[in-house]
Amino acid sequence: MTQTTSATADWIACHRCRTLVYGKRLARDLGVCPDCGHHAPITAPQRLAQLLDEGSIVPLPSPVTPEDPLGFVDTVPYPERLRRARESSGLDEAVICVKGTIAGRPVVVTAMDFRFLGGSLGIAVGERITRAADVALAERAPLVMITASGGARMQEGIFALMQMAKTSGALAELDEAGVLTVTIVTDPTYAGVAASFATLADVIIAEPGARMGFTGRRVIEQTIGQRLPDDFQTAEFLLAHGLVDDIRPRAELRSVLARLLTLQADRPGLPDWEDVRDGTARDHADGQDDRATRGGPAARPTGPPSRRDPWENVQRARGIDRPTTLEYLATMMDSFIELHGDRMSGDCPAIVGGPAVLDGRPVMVVGHQKGHSTAELIARDFAMPTPDGYRKAARLMRLAAKLRLPVVTFIDTPGAHPGLEAEERGQAIAIAENLRLMARLPVPIVAVVSGEGGSGGALALGVADRMIAFESSIYSVISPEGCAAILWRDRTMAPSAAAALRIDAASQLRFGVVDEVIPEPDKGVQDDPMLGAERLRKALTVALDELVARPVQELLRDRRRRFRDIGIASVDVDQEGGAK
Ligand SMILES: [Zn+2]
Repeated sequence: MTQTTSATADWIACHRCRTLVYGKRLARDLGVCPDCGHHAPITAPQRLAQLLDEGSIVPLPSPVTPEDPLGFVDTVPYPERLRRARESSGLDEAVICVKGTIAGRPVVVTAMDFRFLGGSLGIAVGERITRAADVALAERAPLVMITASGGARMQEGIFALMQMAKTSGALAELDEAGVLTVTIVTDPTYAGVAASFATLADVIIAEPGARMGFTGRRVIEQTIGQRLPDDFQTAEFLLAHGLVDDIRPRAELRSVLARLLTLQADRPGLPDWEDVRDGTARDHADGQDDRATRGGPAARPTGPPSRRDPWENVQRARGIDRPTTLEYLATMMDSFIELHGDRMSGDCPAIVGGPAVLDGRPVMVVGHQKGHSTAELIARDFAMPTPDGYRKAARLMRLAAKLRLPVVTFIDTPGAHPGLEAEERGQAIAIAENLRLMARLPVPIVAVVSGEGGSGGALALGVADRMIAFESSIYSVISPEGCAAILWRDRTMAPSAAAALRIDAASQLRFGVVDEVIPEPDKGVQDDPMLGAERLRKALTVALDELVARPVQELLRDRRRRFRDIGIASVDVDQEGGAK
């Protein structure tokens, strides 16, 4: 019995577990086996009906395109293959493109159908997807692409290959215009489709078990003469290798899309990229040094005095019971969608990030993630990121720039991961590239030192317009232990090193590295995490309110000046208390 999800079939055997499922039950479960969770293939019309608001679907006009550019014949003439595909699928091509709404928000959707010549990408498919992107561009409506394809259509030869370039160009235009793009990867998505529009989307969500790749398993196995792992190229494999943002069961796709679509909004005060590049964005500053009146680095607010012994402070900042980034997000944010991976080599568990909503305002959050037990800390690599982590952060920050979302970072790391693989994959370069990216990122950035701000691993999330630090957090060029080992040649001298380095938040405030210190309860923020989160939420809201109202050129100018001034301007070091 072959797999089908037609509601007319009475009993259908699951392709994976062979359980017989009543056809209507399977249809009600969106084509997902109630026994084993296998996501059976569904048709493009079924997919659209599952995802879009009822009655909202308006098909986009189908352009007339050449049908058989090569006059191709194999065992059957290509026009005959097309005719049969049309007859059996009831579709005229391998993709359906529509406008509509999801939870009331406008969207353009392209849904591929594997039944039609394996969902292959030919001239008609490429042209339809490109035109759908044009509609998304003109209407500033997010583009959602549901993929199912074996790759480029051989019968259209080089013309099929060129559709990869054409669709990729269309996606590039949406990037420039700040229009959100999302891919839903369904099984299978291969070759020319995987290597063009499918993987160029801002957010890539895969169905469980869906396979995606360039070269298929069989070809690779024949070439290398080895058997590949069972999970090769599955959604789970792709997530572990940093190539997709998340895996979501079919029943959750509509609600995930509804939440993602809220990121598409025109936000006043944040001009287009082109204006930033050309320097034509509004600049109210008239070249004057007005930081003192704007609360910039020269007008530092005062914070609470340092009350504790420096070493005690270090212990508190590192406390295993201190709230983690994910806990702050769960407490403070109206919502948070975690995205994964650097789209290159891995998903670093030491850095988490994704779009969130703070007091009704969409933001992009990126932060180090610790844990409260040894097991949690091991799972998070002790919050010591690899290059994959910094590249994930960079990817999310670029997406924030594209969608004009302010960035909020959480800093809580002993430092970057010290290891062979991290070096092989360019740890130093990954950190440096984040510093450069953040220096010119054309959206407001607020950084929060929530615990331990360790060295370059911390700074890679710390080039910000505002720095907010919790009272017993620390920020340092090197760990006190590392400093003691090098300069004292004795790690037990770490407390002396901590005092000498002046790594406490109050000192950072005096140095101009930090702009605001959030007071903590006597036993530290871990004693009352809800209070800490509430104080942070208020501080972030005030900072963002001010920053989003500023012209982007002014923001970038002051961000640059801020880091130029540190250690140069208004630093007056005395022997007792450090800089005044
Ligand atoms: Zn099953």
